[in-house]
Amino acid sequence: MSTLRLEQLEKTYANGVKALDNVSIEIQAGMFGLLGPNGAGKSTLMRTVATLQEADSGNASLNEINIFDDPHGLRSVLGYLPQEFGVYPRITAEQLLDHMALLKGISNKKERKELVHHLLQRVNLYQKRNKSVKGFSGGMKQRIGIAQALIGSPKLLIVDEPTAGLDPGERNRFYDLLSEVGEDVIVILSTHIVDDVRELCTQMAVMNMGKIVYQGAPEDGIQALEGKVFEKRIAKAELGAYKNDFQVISNRLIGGQPVIHVLSDSLPDKSFQAVAPTLEDVFFSALEE
Ligand code: ADP
Repeated sequence: MSTLRLEQLEKTYANGVKALDNVSIEIQAGMFGLLGPNGAGKSTLMRTVATLQEADSGNASLNEINIFDDPHGLRSVLGYLPQEFGVYPRITAEQLLDHMALLKGISNKKERKELVHHLLQRVNLYQKRNKSVKGFSGGMKQRIGIAQALIGSPKLLIVDEPTAGLDPGERNRFYDLLSEVGEDVIVILSTHIVDDVRELCTQMAVMNMGKIVYQGAPEDGIQALEGKVFEKRIAKAELGAYKNDFQVISNRLIGGQPVIHVLSDSLPDKSFQAVAPTLEDVFFSALEE
């Protein structure tokens, strides 16, 4: 079974921002969710693993491949869907995939055509194969992005913020597609959307300010918070005071009124109500670490 091993990765940008701070993590085959707010360092980590940029120090390996010593070896088994999948040229879906397959070294024309048709069917765009990708919806562009990332049967598939900007229907179709990627593939889904991880991932990590602040299975994180999350509906003006007095892990508006979640070993007072913890609570409490 495939294993991606990252050890003590460090990266500080020229402007002084520490984007990777002692990142160590081991990831097995399956769907892995890398969750974190914008600016946490997720893209830096994904781009480093994809050999698009270098870390200042640390080690990274995929099975027997040392990623930093042998970037070509890594690229031959990598599928990558970047946050911004470039510009979409005025060519058809089939032409685009054919071109990407050629770049990945599939030089036989007939083999390429078969592969491209297979991929188009797999991402449900076969009927649209002769349409210009420039006119595709966000969801269709992401599906073409996955199709190109699957060329060459990668062992490691990295998708960076794939559902940002998709409408709920497109997002569900994209989830279905990702959940069908082969079993012995490591899929890393980098996202700031908790739903992405809840829907798809069996393992996860939370990243914040360059550090891994939670690592484990989503349900273990939820279980660890059992009996510790309390909810209260408050007035807007009270929020500051509650943040002073309690460990407020989240506040959201329900019908225009703030509802806070507080982390506590026991009922803070009778005005609070115990609630079943959610993955959102796991995420927000990890950010408090
Ligand atoms: P995320 O993907 O979680 O949003 P990033 O890896 O994009 O996080 O960014 C992590 C931090 O590094 C942010 O503070 C960001 O502003 C900073 N950063 C990212 N890329 C660069 C860069 N090329 N130069 C300087 N700072 C950068």
